[in-house]
Amino acid sequence: VIVDRYDTIVIGAGQAGLAMSRVLSDRGVDHVVFERGRLAERWRSERWDSLRLLTPNWMTRLPGQETVRTDPDGFMTKDELVGMLESYAGSFGAPVRENVNVESVSRTRHGYEVLTDAGRFAAHNVVIATGQCATPSIPAFADALDVEQMHSARYRNPATTPPGGVLVVGAGASGLQIAGELRDAGRDVVLAVGRHSRAVRSYRGMDLWWWLDRIGSLSQTVDEVEDIEAARSAPSLGLSGGDRDIDLGTLRDRGVVVAGRLLGAAGRVVDFDTNAVADAAVADTRLARLLDRFDAWAAAEGLDSELAPGSRPRPVVLDRPLSGPVDLAERGIGTVLWATGYGPSYPWLRVPVLDARGEIVQRRGETASPGLYVLGLRFQWRRDSHFLDGVGRDAEHVGDHIAARRAAAVA
Ligand SMILES: Cc1cc2nc3c(=O)[nH]c(=O)nc-3n(C[C@H](O)[C@H](O)[C@H](O)COP(=O)(O)OP(=O)(O)OC[C@H]3O[C@@H](n4cnc5c(N)ncnc54)[C@H](O)[C@@H]3O)c2cc1C
Repeated sequence: VIVDRYDTIVIGAGQAGLAMSRVLSDRGVDHVVFERGRLAERWRSERWDSLRLLTPNWMTRLPGQETVRTDPDGFMTKDELVGMLESYAGSFGAPVRENVNVESVSRTRHGYEVLTDAGRFAAHNVVIATGQCATPSIPAFADALDVEQMHSARYRNPATTPPGGVLVVGAGASGLQIAGELRDAGRDVVLAVGRHSRAVRSYRGMDLWWWLDRIGSLSQTVDEVEDIEAARSAPSLGLSGGDRDIDLGTLRDRGVVVAGRLLGAAGRVVDFDTNAVADAAVADTRLARLLDRFDAWAAAEGLDSELAPGSRPRPVVLDRPLSGPVDLAERGIGTVLWATGYGPSYPWLRVPVLDARGEIVQRRGETASPGLYVLGLRFQWRRDSHFLDGVGRDAEHVGDHIAARRAAAVA
């Protein structure tokens, strides 16, 4: 029995689902947003307590958003962001139904059937906004480890982390920040570092995102990059939300022990590679090239006299990083904290639009199945597609498509 019919069903009430709801409301499209938890659930329950956004407030512009934040250069806490998303949803009466879990989506003759734990629904269109960061990516050899383990999605603060030393795996933004926080709380911390990306919080007096915005990096589309797969899997920028720079050098100064990439594990013994110095050098070179691009842009725009002079960060010097087999118990390490990122997951999707890796095949959010859309993927259309600031543009595109489909059906 079909409980209700809608023109469009949106799955997920994070920023992507809410931006979609705003766009559909503006276009008069009858819709509902099903959210299995609470609105913005992942910001509430899958982020650590001290997290501040990496992106400044001026870079949080959702469709039709009226709130102008008092401090455009500040960085919201996760709780502030949840509050902002709640008031955004309230500002246009977003039809969000919380605590409704979507259990399957299948194609029918007229559109889609969406089975939930609150009944069966029908719609002409379905927008999947369940998040790029849906399921923790943890290497398979984790099963062979005989110590406490935790993914960064479950990390909250040092006090709720099992006592003793911690091996943090991964030097993206999450790994760097969590390693620093644990170390500042007095823990022994080893940080396993593979291919990573070094960044600076600001350069020549301006925030990193200002530069990335100005040089046109954030607005690059999938058609404008040479290797889109490489761009989609590039390591996240090594940043923290706030004033201070965070990189392997500053962490080492705070007492974090840097190790090579984690290759494998058995029992309490883990194996690190010998490439940490080389990986750090690559990250330094890439950062220097990025700063060169900033300088070239400033010169071309005639801004050299207005901007502060460029002072380059010193290359990271690692003093004999840990490598080879290491007995965690001997080093007093009782916990491995995986800061190894996330992957998408659509176990409920019964429409054949996934590739061999389980990713949705799409172009600007449109899939090969008419009326089935996705939002919020990494580099979905532009480099900023999965950021708070970018998802709205993709939502507008999908909204236009849905409105055009409706107009065509009526005609
Ligand atoms: C640690 C971290 C820090 C980040 N920092 C920034 C930052 O500073 N700036 C920035 O712009 N971006 C940042 N991002 C990236 C991005 O903004 C977030 O990942 C954001 O949560 C993505 O929003 P979303 O709406 O696409 O997905 P999500 O926030 O993941 O929302 C998806 C929603 O779908 C719901 N859902 C899932 N499955 C179902 C189902 N079957 N039925 C019903 N509901 C379902 C979930 O409960 C969830 O509420 C960060 C990401 C991470 C992981």
